[in-house]
Amino acid sequence: MTERYGHIIDGHEVESTLGHQFQSIDPYDQKPWAEVAFGGAPDVDRAVAAARHAFDEGPWPRMTHEERRSLIHRFADLIIENGAELALADTRDMGKPYAQALGNDVPRTAANFRFFADHAALATGDVYPRDDRHHLYSSYDPAGVVAAIAPWNFPMMLESWKVAPALAWGNTVVLKPAEDSPASATILARLALEAGIPAGVFNVVHGYGPDSAGQALTESPFIDRITFTGESNTGRVIAAAAAKNLVPVSLELGGKGANIVFDDADIDNAVEWSINAAFTNTGQVCLAGSRLYVQRGILPEFKRRFVAAAEAMVVGDPKDDSTQIGPLSSDEHYTKVRRYFDSIEQAGGSIDTGRLGDGWTITPTVISGLSEEAPHLREEIFGPIVSMTPFDTVDEAVRLVNASPFGLNAMMFTENLSTAHKVAGRLRVGTVWVNCFFIRDLRAPFGGAGDSGVGREGGNFSREFFTEPKAVVMQLN
Ligand code: NDP
Repeated sequence: MTERYGHIIDGHEVESTLGHQFQSIDPYDQKPWAEVAFGGAPDVDRAVAAARHAFDEGPWPRMTHEERRSLIHRFADLIIENGAELALADTRDMGKPYAQALGNDVPRTAANFRFFADHAALATGDVYPRDDRHHLYSSYDPAGVVAAIAPWNFPMMLESWKVAPALAWGNTVVLKPAEDSPASATILARLALEAGIPAGVFNVVHGYGPDSAGQALTESPFIDRITFTGESNTGRVIAAAAAKNLVPVSLELGGKGANIVFDDADIDNAVEWSINAAFTNTGQVCLAGSRLYVQRGILPEFKRRFVAAAEAMVVGDPKDDSTQIGPLSSDEHYTKVRRYFDSIEQAGGSIDTGRLGDGWTITPTVISGLSEEAPHLREEIFGPIVSMTPFDTVDEAVRLVNASPFGLNAMMFTENLSTAHKVAGRLRVGTVWVNCFFIRDLRAPFGGAGDSGVGREGGNFSREFFTEPKAVVMQLN
């Protein structure tokens, strides 16, 4: 074990105030690969004070958008240049296949920074014409110190989704990454400093959630925004902390993505995207298409091809370029997913394919025959396990999708434009993908309904959240 990752506070990489550390375990060989500073309330206080000072006194919020834009673009360049180190850090922390980390997460992380830097630099306020004695306009002022709390499944990418708009709009940030994926956050903050982003603007504190750095950060009276991605129950706790200090909060929470395949779907396209939706990142995706609803006419053919494609996936060492399915992210998470695997038959389901693999690995698993009430269909499993349920009519498909307490996203495969439009309008979810999956446009709203979240981010939605919109009313004498 050679790697060490500290907090980044006020431009320095530092150890914890109390000198505590924790180890990050590589989920493939189950050995520690890095030592990480283990922070708590004193470290959060230091980081928030640094961010507060950088916001209240420092140059960052006072720069022009163009100046910030150029520094953030330099940061994005460094992310690409150091992509291999960032990708390997996520792979070793949480078992993400390296090819996916390098091919998807690194470029998307850089793209998030570039997009929000450009978006802020190009944004305009509004003028409200009234009469010749008044001039009214709106401006978007930086909100202040942003607390960002991220999960482990797309570590650097989801951190950038929060940090990028926060920085672009002139805020300062304290980021708490997940304990299972600390390394890339430290690397990102090192690169931000190297790019010339001033000390105290982007701080990172490692630690756990409850009774630790996460809780201390969300309860701090000196923060102005909380942006959180994680489980729905954690979201409830964080919303309560935010309510206490009346801090605006954005919650991107769990999901149970539904995927409707109609009889008239292009079956090659449907199988390819559905496999991608179900098993990318070993199924540890909030948007994963883990509930497959297949119209009865196409079911036998679709199932045959889907199961064959699932069985063809390469399971193994996430560091190998060919690996598509790695281990689950941690012992605790494997134990949780395994409980679902072990109880499939007890819940009335049958396994079409899938088995326990070596270590913390479960191969792509397809279940049939579950009743609507089965926990496997109602709860977020967050692993490579999908259920396949037949349906007959459009109304039935819509009802099944909307029966979930989650409402993050849905996919639909059909060649009928009318069906696509009508069904998209009836689904109670934040994003609908038709004949595709995971194609993102950063201008579009992203977030969930029901237990999947509160608020939207992306484009102008991020601007609304990370700024204080202000109206200025002048009387002209
Ligand atoms: P958790 O909710 O367990 O943790 C998320 C983050 O919150 C971690 O940094 C965690 O720290 C921290 N945390 C936990 N408890 C508290 C607390 N009381 N106060 C402050 N911080 C706390 O989620 P996971 O990391 O397990 O991530 C998986 C979840 O994230 C899934 O439900 C998934 O659907 C969801 N997700 C949602 C997305 C979306 O866009 N809607 C995108 C990606 C994931 P620690 O790790 O140390 O416990």
